Amino acid sequence: MRVLVTGGAGYIGSHTVLQLLGAGHSVVIADDFSNAKPSVIGRLEELAGVSIPVHRVDLSDYPATAELIAAEQQGEGIDAVIHFAGFKAVGESVDKPLDYYRNNLDTTLSVLEAMRAGGVRTFVFSSSATVYGENPVCERTEDMPTSATNPYGWTKVMIEQILRDLAVADDSWRIGVLRYFNPVGAHPSGRIGEDPSGFPNNLMPFVTQVAVGRRQELSVFGDDYDTVDGTGVRDYIHVEDLAAGHIAALERLGQIDAPWSVWNLGTGSGVSVLQMVAAFAAASGREIPYRIAPRRPGDLAANWADPAKAHRELGWRATRTLDDMCADSWRWQSQNPDGYPD
Ligand code: UDP
Repeated sequence: MRVLVTGGAGYIGSHTVLQLLGAGHSVVIADDFSNAKPSVIGRLEELAGVSIPVHRVDLSDYPATAELIAAEQQGEGIDAVIHFAGFKAVGESVDKPLDYYRNNLDTTLSVLEAMRAGGVRTFVFSSSATVYGENPVCERTEDMPTSATNPYGWTKVMIEQILRDLAVADDSWRIGVLRYFNPVGAHPSGRIGEDPSGFPNNLMPFVTQVAVGRRQELSVFGDDYDTVDGTGVRDYIHVEDLAAGHIAALERLGQIDAPWSVWNLGTGSGVSVLQMVAAFAAASGREIPYRIAPRRPGDLAANWADPAKAHRELGWRATRTLDDMCADSWRWQSQNPDGYPD
């Protein structure tokens, strides 16, 4: 298949691009590089051993997006789109809700309309476990009602609804919604990985930056939750397993009749903040100084995936261990202490 990967220069997008190429697919990247460095592309080409066509485009610009897809359709053609492009910082979304609704909804609508105009009907969407909202049942199954606690999460809920409506209106679509749990880790080469701009909001990039000396200590947000050691529990999944889930979903969409499908991508196991700190210290040989801080507003005590549906329907399951996640994150961070070069 020839796949258009929006946000292909980002963290999950870049790992997925490599696996698509490794699985024999060809790839076209569309990215505006607003939250990714152009040097990612050279590294992808070096690892894949091929050159990768890249369109620098603002996907919320419908004419530009339609022109991109139309031009590709006149050339080698596009068989499917994997849509990663979007804003993703929860805290920032609370401060700038309009920016988040505008960007995430506009880019998705523009890509879908351009696909419709260009005759492309296979679409894989980066959703998130955040759509399970504050449901008290920690183990998340795909049939739970969706909700959100911040504007970022609402954009995911809303886009899922748009995709459902589209599938009802036109059953020639093949739409796969992937609900990611907490992606961590990096490519085993250490050449690509997560490179957050500014202050990291997520646990793993914060821990790796403490380990490499860019930050002094980790704040552990709360130690009085009803969990194994009082700290928050999440389902961390290696980005390489997550990327593999996209290939499996894409291939499955080529075989099924349903126009809309949803799959959790998680390991099914919960890990606490302090368990993650200990695993990372062991994998890196570095101490991770931390202090207990107040709970972060809006945080849940614990959640993890029930990944059975993805296993049953996609034949996919996460295989990398917590040690793999920590070792690969550390290799990336220690080899690239300041992230990608400008
Ligand atoms: N966390 C923490 N310190 C940090 C960042 C995160 O203690 O600097 C905790 C957070 O409270 C949660 C877990 O780590 O229990 C995962 O947080 P992250 O923001 O990575 O993911 P999310 O909460 O969105 O699942």
